[in-house]
Amino acid sequence: MTVPAGLADRFADLSGEPPVGIWSAPGRANLIGEHTDYNNGFVLPFAIDDRTWCAARANDVGLLRVASTAQPSTHSVAVAQLDSVGFEGWSGYALGVAWALHSMGQDLTDAPGIDILIDSTVPLGAGLSSSAALESAVAIALNDLWNLGLDRMTLAKVGQLAENGAIGAPTGIMDQVATLFGQEDHAVLLDCASLRTTAVPLHLEAHGLSLLVMDSKVKHAHADGGYASRREACERGARAMGVPFLRDLTVADLTRAREVLDDETFRRVRHVVTENDRVLATVEALSTVGPDAIGSLLLASHTSMRDDFEISVPEIDTAVEAAMDAGALGARLTGGGFGGSAVALVPTARKDKIADAVRTACAEHAFAEPEILDVSPAQGARCDQ
Ligand code: ADP
Ligand code: MG
Repeated sequence: MTVPAGLADRFADLSGEPPVGIWSAPGRANLIGEHTDYNNGFVLPFAIDDRTWCAARANDVGLLRVASTAQPSTHSVAVAQLDSVGFEGWSGYALGVAWALHSMGQDLTDAPGIDILIDSTVPLGAGLSSSAALESAVAIALNDLWNLGLDRMTLAKVGQLAENGAIGAPTGIMDQVATLFGQEDHAVLLDCASLRTTAVPLHLEAHGLSLLVMDSKVKHAHADGGYASRREACERGARAMGVPFLRDLTVADLTRAREVLDDETFRRVRHVVTENDRVLATVEALSTVGPDAIGSLLLASHTSMRDDFEISVPEIDTAVEAAMDAGALGARLTGGGFGGSAVALVPTARKDKIADAVRTACAEHAFAEPEILDVSPAQGARCDQ
């Protein structure tokens, strides 16, 4: 995807001069590995071809000033006052990155102010992580303009700290890693314990396959409470099993887990333990056989989230079943659950038919019409010009 036409001109209208550079970072979807991150486990997300752009230029007034084509409000903060700042609305995602750099010990004493204009094709709040795309686009721009020389994992931590500290969202590091480490036609295996990343080739096009993201449009009112209670169940399960994290259990430990744990905690634990296994099995199947071999793992992941972790909703189950009935190789809930999106691996030749079948099934149940996006695994954050 190329830089949106007119972005440099719009920047010049606002700032008085053209940008010195345009940086971008993509949204992301998770192929497999759900609720494994905070259990120190494995996730396998990929960057998508929708991107967020950051046009920028240093100014001589010592202010970080941010504007976005998606928002009416503009915001600014003095670089010298990043200690004591409360962020309004969306600006926390952009100015919060500078705050996070400062909080992590970067010396910004001589850093000039920067003017920033954001533009994006990542849908906001649809579960494709427009938030991490914004943080990472700003992070690589500031890294270059301020000559900080930080590596991508450090920039991922900066984005995560902005989201946790400036926005107050208790998210893990997966989104930032996906948006910074993504590659075309690859997924990114992240080991959440070591923070080691591995690019995993998908070979989708060569196998005539595509990925669809199906946004159910359901935003469940209990998402926050449900997320917290799942985390608690995982911590409880790990404690009862005598391990620091559920990552430290294997499928063989589940026999003992069934004896030690109450039924609900056991099922929560079984999801996480088997999901970690499925992520590694997916990586193995991709490298030995190819993408045709991973459909059953995706579907098994969905079943586990529906029955054991209990984070799916009827709208998502309907989309997954309709996609499978219409010829998808695999499909599953993606994201934290209680609504949001499903991802489906489909033959490219059948993708329109499968999308239609999902829309029809949702209409038959009188559910909201899902938004269905064709996503291609794409390159991570970069300087575009
Ligand atoms: P998601 O990351 O799934 O899209 P979030 O709620 O985490 O959803 O983040 C969405 C928020 O991020 C928006 O409400 C807005 O505050 C901010 N945001 C994302 N993209 C942009 C953008 N292009 N311009 C301004 N703000 C944005
Ligand atoms: Mg987000």
